[in-house]
Formats: sequence, C-alpha cells, structure tokens
Amino acid sequence: MSTSAAILSKKEKKLNKKTIDYIKNKKLVEQNFGSIDVIFKDQIDNVDVDVDEVFKKVNFLIPDHFLNLIDLVYIGEFEAFKERDINALFADDTLYISNQQDNNEDLLDDIIHELAHAVENKYGEHIYGDGKIEGEFLLKRNKLKQILTHQNFDVSELNFLETNYNKEFDSFMYEEIGYETLQLLTVDLFINPYSLTSLREYFASGFEEFYLGKKLYLKDICPYINRKVMVLHEGPTREEENERYF
Ligand SMILES: [Zn+2]
Repeated sequence: MSTSAAILSKKEKKLNKKTIDYIKNKKLVEQNFGSIDVIFKDQIDNVDVDVDEVFKKVNFLIPDHFLNLIDLVYIGEFEAFKERDINALFADDTLYISNQQDNNEDLLDDIIHELAHAVENKYGEHIYGDGKIEGEFLLKRNKLKQILTHQNFDVSELNFLETNYNKEFDSFMYEEIGYETLQLLTVDLFINPYSLTSLREYFASGFEEFYLGKKLYLKDICPYINRKVMVLHEGPTREEENERYF
C-alpha cells in the first residue's frame, strides 16, 4: 500500500488535472493487486467483502492483454452512479466501481462487466465488424417484441431495432415490465434482462458469462459472443498483431 504521491509520479500523465487535484486533496489510498492499480476513494462498505480475494480471481481469470487496457480502478461513491442509477462505469481507460457491494461475487461481476467494455472499446472492430453479434441481437429483439406483444404489453412506441442505449426503451423494460418478469419471459434468449438494454450490454453480459458463468449456456444462446471472446482471450498471434483490430 502506498500514498497518493506514488500514483501521481506513475500516472500523472494519464490523469486529467481535475482528477489529480482531487487525489492530492483527498490523500487517497492506492493498492496494487498484481498488475492492477486500485485507488480507494472510499473503502468497501461491507466487511464481508475480501478485496484481495476478488482481485486475485480477476488476475487469475482475465488474461494480461485485457488487464493492460486498464490504467486504474477507482472504488468509491461517485456522483455519476447516482445520476444514472448504476454501480460501475468504464471511462478513459479507468474502471469506476461502487464501494457498496453485497459480497465478493457482487464486486467481481462489476469488475468483469466493466472490463468487457474496455475490451469492446479496444477490439470493437473484431467484435462487431462482421455484424454477426448485431444480427444475433436484433433477431432476439424481434422475438422479444413478439413475446411482449403476446403478453399484452403495449410496445408499439418502442424501437426494437435500435442497438444503442435508448432511455425510453430501457425505462419501459426496467420500470414498466420489470426484470423479474423479463427474466421469466426471455430465459432462452438473453443471458439476463440487462443484456437486452443495448448491443454493448448484450456483449458485456456475454463476456461476464464467459468468465463467471456457464460457458455452455453462453455457447448455446449467444454463440457469436462465445466465439469472439474465445479468440480474443487467446490474444493476438504475431501475424495478427499487425492487423488493424489488434
Ligand atoms: Zn455495461
């Protein structure tokens, strides 16, 4: 464990000024877990969570070429979480993770989920370039529309072919229908109800399932995500390193 001074010398160039001032003022605590640098803005609010154990698992499960995409992991309470009703976020090569965690698994899946966004950020062309995952996603969105119509939900105002995040679509799914109902209706289609939110969340949920869930289930219901993550997990071969997506 070291104080903020150590991080500043190492990371200064990569952090914007606002963040640096913030770190200087707050004297945040940095801790290294393998190759992962973690800054605790606030300590985890649950004594049952074993942070060491969680990061040990992350280092064990996730290959270095994925972990290297991340400069820092920030743990704490952040305004953006409240504003957007979320508990984790990936931005500027940094993972922001809530300090409110139910248990080790809860913290672990937040980290793996946001790593998925770092991976799609870097390897987007490889993941989405051939349109296969998008095709898979849109087919399922279509089926979802049929299922919901059959269940007498009025979804006529929603655009099921929009792959990006859409607030209206998200609110309808999360608030009007609810994830419990969606879970029951879509168990053969989507890894979890959150994954139907957007193409990016569809991929991130699949990535999470690849590392933390049942690979066979993933292979069964999202074969293209399974295939892409499997290839990316192995990492670039020497020839591929010269190709544009690596
Ligand atoms: Zn996400």
